[in-house]
Amino acid sequence: MHYIIHYDIASLVIFLITSIIFAFRKRIPCKRNKVFAMLLGIASASAVFDILSVLITSDMLGRNFKIFLHTAYYVTHNFIPFWFVIYIMFLTDTSSSVTNSFRIRLYLPEIVNILLIVTSPLTGWIIRIDSSGNYDRGPLQPICYAISIYYLALGIVYALETRRMMPRQAVLSVLSFIAMTLIAMFIQMINPALMVECFGSALCIMLVMFILQNQDDMIDSGTKMLNRSSFVNNCLANCTSGTQFSILLIRIPDFTLLMRTFGTRFSNTLLRNFADYLYSFIELGEGYYLEDECFALTYFRDGGRVGEVYREIFTRLGESWKIGSVDTLISAYFLRIDVPKDAEDTEIIMDYVEHFKRMKSVPDHMLHASEINIYDQRRREEVEKAIERGIENRSFSVYYQPIYSADKKRIVSCEALIRLVDDQLGNIPPDEFITLAEQNGMIIKIGRIVFEEACRFIKKGEAMDLGIQYVEVNLSVVQCMQSDLAEQFMSIMDQYKVDPSNICLEITETAAAYTPHIMEQNIRLLSDMGIKMALDDYGTGYSNMSYLLNMPFKFLKLDKGMMRAALERDKARIAIESTIVMAKKLNMQIIAEGIETDDQLERVLDMGCDFIQGNYFSMPVPGDEFLQVLKKFSGDEVKSHAN
Ligand code: C2E
Ligand code: MG
Ligand code: MG
Repeated sequence: MHYIIHYDIASLVIFLITSIIFAFRKRIPCKRNKVFAMLLGIASASAVFDILSVLITSDMLGRNFKIFLHTAYYVTHNFIPFWFVIYIMFLTDTSSSVTNSFRIRLYLPEIVNILLIVTSPLTGWIIRIDSSGNYDRGPLQPICYAISIYYLALGIVYALETRRMMPRQAVLSVLSFIAMTLIAMFIQMINPALMVECFGSALCIMLVMFILQNQDDMIDSGTKMLNRSSFVNNCLANCTSGTQFSILLIRIPDFTLLMRTFGTRFSNTLLRNFADYLYSFIELGEGYYLEDECFALTYFRDGGRVGEVYREIFTRLGESWKIGSVDTLISAYFLRIDVPKDAEDTEIIMDYVEHFKRMKSVPDHMLHASEINIYDQRRREEVEKAIERGIENRSFSVYYQPIYSADKKRIVSCEALIRLVDDQLGNIPPDEFITLAEQNGMIIKIGRIVFEEACRFIKKGEAMDLGIQYVEVNLSVVQCMQSDLAEQFMSIMDQYKVDPSNICLEITETAAAYTPHIMEQNIRLLSDMGIKMALDDYGTGYSNMSYLLNMPFKFLKLDKGMMRAALERDKARIAIESTIVMAKKLNMQIIAEGIETDDQLERVLDMGCDFIQGNYFSMPVPGDEFLQVLKKFSGDEVKSHAN
C-alpha cells in the first residue's frame, strides 16, 4: 500500500508548535497541566512512530524493529482517547471522586487494548507483518477501533454529566474535539493509506491548548497562582462531587504595614517570593492567591500533608526574606479547613476565608476551622437581607429619647433613633445593622428615612408644643461623603416646612476624626444653613482634636461608657471634668448620655453638664408614646429632679 504521510508530517509540525507554546506559556503547576503535557507527549510520540513505521522498511533495520515501530505507534495512538477522558476528569476537577465501578469502566478496556497490541507481534491479532516485512491489519483490529470509540463516547457522557462544573464553552469544545477525532478515525478506517488520524488528534490537542488550557483568567497576575474565582470554582466542583479535601489558608497580617513602610514594589516582590516559596508545596494539590495577602493550598487524599506543610512554612518564617537590600521577617496566620467535615459547601468555605481575612489576631499555631465561629458571617448576611427587606417594606421605625436641659429644667429636645423589627430575625439592634448598612452603602437610604421621619414628626407640631426645640438626628460618615447631602436635606426640610434650627445632626467622634475634605465641607454647609451640629460619643474615638477646633460643633455628647467610668473612677471623672471645662471654653455645650439613676443625674449635674439623656427620663419610644412622656415630664416631676 502506498501511504500518504503528508498529514502525519503536518501533525508533527502542529505538535511541535503546540509544545513550544505550551512550554513557554505562563502555567500553573496543577495536575490538569501535567495531564495535558502527558497527552501532548503521547500524541506527538504516536505521530513520530507513525511516520517512522512508514519510512523505515524491514530491509533497513530489520523486521523486528519494524514490528517494534508499529507496536509503539499502536500503543501510543490508542492511549490518546483514554488519556483524553482522564484530561476531562481533571478539567472538571472530579478525578479524585470517581467511583470504583467507574474506575473499572475506565481502566479495563484500555488494559485489554494494550495487552492485545503488545502481544500482537506473537499473535498477529492486531498488527501483522508479512514475511517480506510489510504491515497488514490483524483480524482483531476492529476491537482497537471499538475501544477508541468507547473512550470517545465515555468522554461525551462524562462531559455532559459534569457540564455544570465546566464553562459552557469548555463543554462545547470537548464535544466538538471528540466529533473531530471520530471523523478522522472514520476516514482512516475506510482509507488506511490516508493517514489522517494523527492529524485529527494534533488539531484537537492544539485547540484544547488554545481554548481549554487558556488559563489567563484563572491566574492572579501578581503571584502567578490560581486566583480566587478558580478557588471558588474548584471548591464548587469538589463539594458537588462529594470529594474530601483539606485547605490550608495562609495570611500575612503585617503586609499592609510592610507596604506602607517599604513601598509597593517591595511588597509586590515579597508577595511573589512568598508565592514562589509556596509552589514547592503544591506537588500534590493546588495553590491559590485569594487576594488580601491570603493564600490557599488544597490537598486531596493526603490530608495529613497539611500539618507537615504548616510546620515547614512556620520554620521558614523564622528566617528573614531578602528583598533588594532589605532583610525582613514576616509572620503568618494559618487556618485549616477539612471539607466536608468543617464546611459542606463552597459558601461555608468562603465564609471561613472571609472570616479568616478579617481576624485581627490568631493564636501562634495552625488554627482549625472547628475552633472559630463563623456565625458572624452568616448573621451578617441575614441582617443584610433584613435591612433590604426593611427598606423595601418600609418597616423601619423611628423612636425618640428625651434630652433634658439642666438650665431650663425641662425636656427641650430628643434624639431620633432608628429601630428595625424584622419578621424573620425579630428586633435587630441599631449598633449591629447600622455598621453593616454603612459597609454596604444602604445607610444612605436609611439616613434619608430617619431624616424624613424626624421632619414629619417636627411638622406635626405636637412635640414642639410640648417644649421640644429641636430633634437630634444621627448622621453617618458615609452620608457625609455625598456631595449633595446638604441639598438633599434642604429639599426634605422644604417639603415638610421645617426650619433648620429645629434640627441637630450628630456625628460620631470616630467619623469626625477622619474628616475627609467633603465631609468637612458638608458639615460647614449644613451648619451655615442653620442646622445645629453635635459631636456624638465623645471619649470613644481618636485623640486627634483638630476637628474640635475646626468644626462648628455646638454640642459635645459624652459617651455613655465614658460617663459610667467617670461616675465610678476618679481618673475618668477628672478627665471628663477637664473635658467639660475645655468644651465650655470652646463655646460648646455638654450632653451627658446614658444616665439611668437619681444618683447619676445628680452627679452629672454637679459636674456641669448642660443636657442629660438617658433611660432615667425615658428609653427611646415611638412618637406617640414620646408625647405621653413629654406630657408626664411637663408637670412637677421634672422640676423635682432638677431641684
Ligand atoms: P448613639 O447615637 O450614641 O445613641 C445613644 C444610644 O444610647 C441609643 O442606643 C440609646 O438607646 C442608648 N441609651 C441612651 N440612654 C441610655 C441609658 O440610660 N442606658 C443605656 N443602656 N442605653 C442608653 P441605640 O438606639 O441602640 O443606638 C445605638 C447607636 O446606633 C446610636 O448611638 C447611633 O450611633 C446608632 N444609631 C441609631 N439610630 C441611628 C440612625 O438613625 N442613624 C445612624 N447613622 N445611626 C444611628
Ligand atoms: Mg447619637
Ligand atoms: Mg451617643
